[in-house]
Amino acid sequence: MSQEWLEQSIIVLTGIGEKMLQRFARRSLFTLNDLLFHLPVRYQDKTRIVPIARLRVGDHYLVKGELIDCHIQQGKRAVLSCTIDDGTSVLNLRFFHFNQRQVTGLKKALEQGKWLTCFGEAKYGRQTLEIIHPEYRIINKNQLIQMDESLTPVYPTTEGLSQLVLLNAIQQVIEKLQQNTQKPDAEPSAHADKPLAHAKEPSASDKEPSANKKPSRAGLIEDFFPHSMRQELNFPTLSEALIYLHAPPPDCSVFELMEGHDPYRGRLVFEELLAHQLSMKSAYQKHQQYYAFALRTPARTVKKHYSAQFLQQLSFKLTQAQQTVVDEIALDVQKNQPMQRLVQGDVGSGKTVVAALAALFAMENGFQAALMAPTELLAEQHRINFQQWLQALDLKVGWLSGKSTAKQRRESLAQIADGSVQMIIGTHALFQESVIFKRLGLVIIDEQHRFGVHQRLALLQKGENKAIAVNQEDEKISFYPHQLIMTATPIPRTLAMTAYADLDCSVIDELPPGRTPVETVVLSEQRRNDVLHRVHNACLNKRQAYWVCTLIEESEVLQCQAAEKTHAMLLSQFPDIAIGLVHGRMKTAEKQAVMQSFKQGDISMLVATTVIEVGVDVPNASLMIIENAERLGLSQLHQLRGRVGRGTQSSVCVLMYSHPLSKNGKSRLMTLRETNDGFEVARKDLALRGPGELLGTRQTGLAEMKIADIIRDQQLIPKVNDIAQRLMDEYPQSVTPIINRWIGQKAQYQNV
Ligand code: ADP
Ligand code: MG
Repeated sequence: MSQEWLEQSIIVLTGIGEKMLQRFARRSLFTLNDLLFHLPVRYQDKTRIVPIARLRVGDHYLVKGELIDCHIQQGKRAVLSCTIDDGTSVLNLRFFHFNQRQVTGLKKALEQGKWLTCFGEAKYGRQTLEIIHPEYRIINKNQLIQMDESLTPVYPTTEGLSQLVLLNAIQQVIEKLQQNTQKPDAEPSAHADKPLAHAKEPSASDKEPSANKKPSRAGLIEDFFPHSMRQELNFPTLSEALIYLHAPPPDCSVFELMEGHDPYRGRLVFEELLAHQLSMKSAYQKHQQYYAFALRTPARTVKKHYSAQFLQQLSFKLTQAQQTVVDEIALDVQKNQPMQRLVQGDVGSGKTVVAALAALFAMENGFQAALMAPTELLAEQHRINFQQWLQALDLKVGWLSGKSTAKQRRESLAQIADGSVQMIIGTHALFQESVIFKRLGLVIIDEQHRFGVHQRLALLQKGENKAIAVNQEDEKISFYPHQLIMTATPIPRTLAMTAYADLDCSVIDELPPGRTPVETVVLSEQRRNDVLHRVHNACLNKRQAYWVCTLIEESEVLQCQAAEKTHAMLLSQFPDIAIGLVHGRMKTAEKQAVMQSFKQGDISMLVATTVIEVGVDVPNASLMIIENAERLGLSQLHQLRGRVGRGTQSSVCVLMYSHPLSKNGKSRLMTLRETNDGFEVARKDLALRGPGELLGTRQTGLAEMKIADIIRDQQLIPKVNDIAQRLMDEYPQSVTPIINRWIGQKAQYQNV
């Protein structure tokens, strides 16, 4: 079926010239196809007149009434205020005009009429409900009013692109579609219905007589959704669904369209979710086709048994959950396909050890492993840990961060390139162009939620390119490293299925033994002195505390200044305890020295900015005070709180808030007081902030879908997932067209 007409520029439509074209482009609307998939956000009901007494604030209505008052209010600019009465109630109408003459003219015109119909959004007025700047028409009392036959769609628009122009353009495309969809069930579904290779059984459409009256080719839209699946899901055809949403039938109510789960809307929601799922799954599949070196367990090779030695030297046993995940990783990396595994585990569940074991699998097979962390502070912590662990095994740790000096950097790069370091740790500086690995077998990304999806994919791609460029000594094979991604933001399963459809997922669902849950206390800032006093006492009794300074502004400078001030204040107030300071603007060596003293117990109280949010691990610290806690997000607070409660000592986290406390802010603090469970916190966070913030996916399609809503529609996801898999297996030719139709340009990010 020819789809060319859909790829035509919208300039072919009546009423659209070059200038208009640019305005459409601002909303990424270029072709007729784009218009067809630019779906209404809501609908206006001009099909019936609503009694004024039945209006509800916030909705749009068509009303009819008699003008009972009409006067000009003088002020900065003249306002015409009118009141209409329809026998059920009265409604105020207000018109703003810039000059007196216009207002007077309007007043005259209205008064001559006496009866009006008007349309607009009902709002609270001074005494009655009101509509500001309604669309209106002057009528005779008994005049028959021409009403719309069906609901009017309202489209997402942009400056310079009026609703009317948009509506007009889209309606023209819909008309083309309508003209050719007289008998939708007979719509030929072209190749989408022919399963791959040999047809298993003739699909319903194949059985249909091919002598159906043929609609003209232009004006049809190909349904890439196979007929058999459409029937199974009880979905209408694509053109039926599109026509229904863009030009709802006369008897359809706004409520039905927006709330009712009609199959038309349902089909499009499903298909959009499907497109996203397919896009991620194709990325996964594409990646699986690359070659990776299988990392065998040493029993089957002559290499050293580093991982076993490492486990022996650890002071604890892996938890069952850690062991399970390590086994999953071991299975993955023994294949000649790159591992793409995500490990989710609450703060403190012990992800670092799991990462270390994975890295050792690479090293015992003669490969390098790279570990990337989102902050320098965390990267440094990892460096210290890994150095300690690997020293005994005679393995060397390399280091790269944005703050390395030119000389350090040159040395590091040389060591990474000649293979004299096996474990490489750093910030995102690790994946810059100039970094060439000798034999990179594994990439680990810690706290990936801090990077965002795009960044993660871009970083992986860079890692891959590097790896391709490196040939193994004599064999000239290019290879991809295995990938291990770690996150402390546990998300509900259905959401993970969508957001991480390009990864295999593991969960560490157990904390190491002996931890006592952190007790969380919510206190007003007015109790600050009280809190200070208690923390001081605790420190005198050999406990260690974090004092976290936050600010509204994202400005790191201001945050650091606040921390400096607090530090100075505490120093003068409590000369008898050792108080340290750490923030993001300190020199690397300084930060490291402070963290080290804190870890060794030389410092009792550590004043810090939110730099310590991720990854920092000082098990003996058992107190945390967070200032202005109401300003931070739920997940961030949970992460921060995760810095305590890592040892056997019972820990307390004090969330201090300042007034006034917003409802949302209060709800966040209460959630934290009530639960220590990361999944629960994430669920609440999702409800409060939406998926974009939580997953760092604001820029990917996930958070900005046209019609689907990943939270509202999550119950569909298992089915979407199932259909996506079957499409890929049985109808692979439908996959790319569906992705392109819904995601288009954006898919390129997901298909790196
Ligand atoms: P995460 O990165 O998951 O937040 P870490 O890897 O930093 O957690 O581990 C938190 C703390 O728990 C560390 O001090 C670590 O040494 C310790 N730990 C990890 N696994 C175990 C275990 N199986 N038993 C006891 N302690 C453990
Ligand atoms: Mg960690």
